[in-house]
Amino acid sequence: MFRLLLLIPSISLSVEIERFFPKKGIGEFVPSIGTVNLLILPVQFSNVKFQQPPSYFDQLAERFKAYYLETSNGSLTIIPTVATYATLSTSSSNYASNPTQLTIDAVNVANPYINFSSYNALMLLHAGANNQSGGHILSQFWSVNIVVDGTTIYNVMIVPEKDNYRSSSFGIWCHEFGHQLGHDDLPFGYWSLMDVGCYNGSGEYPAHLDGYSKYRLGWITPEQVENLTLLLKPTSTVYKFGTGAEFFILEYRKKKGFDSFLPGEGFLAYHINEVGAKAVYPADNEWDGLGDSGDPFPGSSGRREVTFAPGFTFNLIFPAVLSVKAYPNPLMGDGFIFFDAPPKSRVRIYNVAGELVGEAKDKGYIGRFSWRPNVASGVYIFVAEDADGSRGYGKLAIIK
Ligand SMILES: [Zn+2]
Repeated sequence: MFRLLLLIPSISLSVEIERFFPKKGIGEFVPSIGTVNLLILPVQFSNVKFQQPPSYFDQLAERFKAYYLETSNGSLTIIPTVATYATLSTSSSNYASNPTQLTIDAVNVANPYINFSSYNALMLLHAGANNQSGGHILSQFWSVNIVVDGTTIYNVMIVPEKDNYRSSSFGIWCHEFGHQLGHDDLPFGYWSLMDVGCYNGSGEYPAHLDGYSKYRLGWITPEQVENLTLLLKPTSTVYKFGTGAEFFILEYRKKKGFDSFLPGEGFLAYHINEVGAKAVYPADNEWDGLGDSGDPFPGSSGRREVTFAPGFTFNLIFPAVLSVKAYPNPLMGDGFIFFDAPPKSRVRIYNVAGELVGEAKDKGYIGRFSWRPNVASGVYIFVAEDADGSRGYGKLAIIK
C-alpha cells in the first residue's frame, strides 16, 4: 500500500536544542499545558484565491480548539484567532521551494493590521491545496527568524485550505501543531496524529496523539507496573512497563470522539526506545505499516497475554460473572430486594425493548438493596455490575 511520508518533519538538530533553551517569541515550543494564543493567518495569491468564506475557517478553528482539548484531556486550551485574508501579488508557484519567503511576505502584508506580539504560535493558512495533494506549497512545520512588532517568529506551521485527496485539511492543521508542541513524526500509523492517523475520517477525525506522546507532554501520568492483570474493559489509566530508555506503554483506545475512525479498539502497546526505534507492538505480531484491528489486545486476534520483555508480563482477563438474585420473583407486591450482590454493585433494569426503566445501587455496601418498580406488568431484564466491571444478568417478572 502506498504510504504517504509527505508531512516532512523539519525539526533540525538546532531546533532540538532550542527545546531545552526556549526562546521568547512566536513559535517557540509552546507549553503543552495551559493556554496558547494561536494566530491563523490566511494568505492567497495572484493565481489561487480562497474558495471558502471566512466563516468556514472560523468553524475549523473552533474544531481545532476542541480537538486539542479532547486529546490533551483538557490540559491544553488553544485560543485561535483567524485574521482577515492577506493577498499576495505573486503566484503560489513562487513559494514552491521557499517557505521562508512566503512567511516573510505574508507577515509584511498583514503587519499593519495585526499585533504579532499578542500571539505565541503562527499558522500560515494558504489558499488552495498543498504540495502533498497537487498544489505548490508543502505542508510543514518550518523554522524562520523574522522580527516583527518587537517579537521574533521562530517557527511557523504551513497548512492548506484543502486537501485534494481528502474531504478536509483539518487533520493537517492538527498534525503540524503536533510539531509545534515539539513532536517528531512517529511510525504509529492510523493510531497517531503524528503519522497517517492525521488523515483518519478523510481528514475530519484525526486520531488522538498516541499514549507515548501524551506521556511526553505531561497530559497523562502512566502507572508504572511490572506485571499486570487487567479486566478486559475500557480504562483511562495508561500503563508503563520498564524504567530505562527502553520501555512499553499500554493504553486503551476506543472509537470515540476524534478517535472515531481508528482501525480498531482495545489495549494498544507501544515499544519505545527513547534513543532509538519506536513502534506499535501489535497483538497479532503483524505490523503492516499503517495499523489495523489486529494491533490492539485482544483486538481481532483475540490475544490476551504478552510478555513484553523478561519480567514484564501483561494479561487481560474477562470480567467474572456475577450471580445477583432478586426476591420475590415474580413480584406481586411493592418492590424487589436484590441480594448476593458484591458490595458497591448496582443493577440497571431494562424492558424487552432494551429501554432503561430503573436503576438501584448498593448504597450501604452490604450487597443487598431494593428497587420499587413503577412499570407495567411484564418481563424485564436486569444487568448487575460491580465496582470492577464484572457483570451478571437476570430476568424479573412483574404481575400487577
Ligand atoms: Zn510531520
